[in-house]
Order: sequence, then C-alpha cells, then structure tokens
Amino acid sequence: MGDARVGLVIEDDHDIRELVRVVLTQAGFDVIATSTGAEGVLAAKNSDPAVITLDLGLPDIDGFEVARQIRQFSDAYIVMLTARAEELDTLIGLESGADDYLTKPFRPRELRARVAAMMRRPRSTAELANGAAAPSGAANNAKSYRHNGLDLSYDSRTVAVDGNELSLTRTEFDLLYALLEAGRMVRTKADLVRRLRDEPYDVGSYISEADERSVEVHMGNLRKKLGDSAQNPRWLQTVRGVGYRLAPEQR
Ligand code: CA
Repeated sequence: MGDARVGLVIEDDHDIRELVRVVLTQAGFDVIATSTGAEGVLAAKNSDPAVITLDLGLPDIDGFEVARQIRQFSDAYIVMLTARAEELDTLIGLESGADDYLTKPFRPRELRARVAAMMRRPRSTAELANGAAAPSGAANNAKSYRHNGLDLSYDSRTVAVDGNELSLTRTEFDLLYALLEAGRMVRTKADLVRRLRDEPYDVGSYISEADERSVEVHMGNLRKKLGDSAQNPRWLQTVRGVGYRLAPEQR
C-alpha cells in the first residue's frame, strides 16, 4: 500500500465522475474511477479504498447491489450519490450498507466536508497507530465499555457480544460508541447526525428529516447485527420522537 489512501468513484455520468475525481484528488486520495457496478466491485476488491462514492443508477447492477457486494469484504466509507427523485431510495441504500448519501446536484465542498469528517473517524487499530485523530467527542480519551454482555474497545475498534466479535461498519461502530459514551443520557437523532459528521453536538447546523431517517436506518442495521430487540432492548433503547439511549443495566 502506498502513502495516499485510495478513493474509488463508481459513476456512469462522465461529468459527475470527473467532478468527484477532482474533489477526492484535492482531498489527497489516489483516485480510481469506474463507470459500471461490476467494475466498481472489482476495483474495490483490488485496491482496498478508504472512500467510495457510489452512483445509484448504474448501467449494469444498481447501486444497492453494488453496496451489498462491497460490504461483503470492505469497510470503506461508502457515500451514495443520488438524484433528487431517488431520495427515498437512499434509505434502502443505507440498509444495503452505505454510510451516507448526497443528493445531486451537490456542491463539491459538501462532498469534501463529508469525506474529511469521515476520515477523522479511524476505522482500525492500524489507523489509530498511524496517528489518525480520535473523534472530537472522544478527544484523547479512548475508552472501553462493557454493558449487558457487550464489550466495545475504542482502541481496537472492536465490539463483542457475549464474547463473539461482531463486524460493524464504521458508522455503526461510531453510533454505538456515542450511545455508550452518553450512558443513560438521550442522544437525539440530530446529535447523532452531527456526531457522524464530526461536528459538536450543540452547533445549529441544518439537519434534514432525511438525515434523521438515515440515523434510524443505521440504528436498525446495528440492532440487527447486535441481535437486539426494539421492544425489549438490551442496548439500544428508542426514545420515541426524540432519539436513542442506552438500555438500563440488566442484573
Ligand atoms: Ca447514473
């Protein structure tokens, strides 16, 4: 592996592909660009990208299926680029393993900001060792948590339930970490969106309804992987209309 991290663009529209290539190059990535889903999956396998931008409407396989296939072997940060008419579909995209989405047309600096925020969220021990910064909420205070049979280690970015290690995406890990860190305090969906964007909880930046729904989808995915129950939660308690908090300790 070289020094620069790889960014992979999967996009059949030439103009958008070149725009994204420029943004990622300026952000310091070695960029690989592909124009079909099949090529994209293959490139993801061969180049171990840190970031992938994924068009939903591709000429061969659709973006959902591409995300699902890539998630089998990669924990890259996947951001879906969707046309406005496809906005509802973004939720399905997140269910299939994407981390985030942007609606076209998007401003290049918006994509740059999302990617930069995500790269501040380390994904492995190796990256931590390489000096990647801890997320703002955890500033230099990396921790481990144990709660109702779940063990989370921030240092190794691992989660185990009853001793069995789970494979979480970065986004799922960061959401779980945010709730463990908050203890029994409720985190609103807006709080959690800001957390994923590496913004402080108390800034007044605009969070859309779709952003909040994306947190619901990630929480749903996380709940499934944990084997947790929404009705009788061991970890993830929904506070209706507000957000989430950690379920009480069970004795
Ligand atoms: Ca397209």
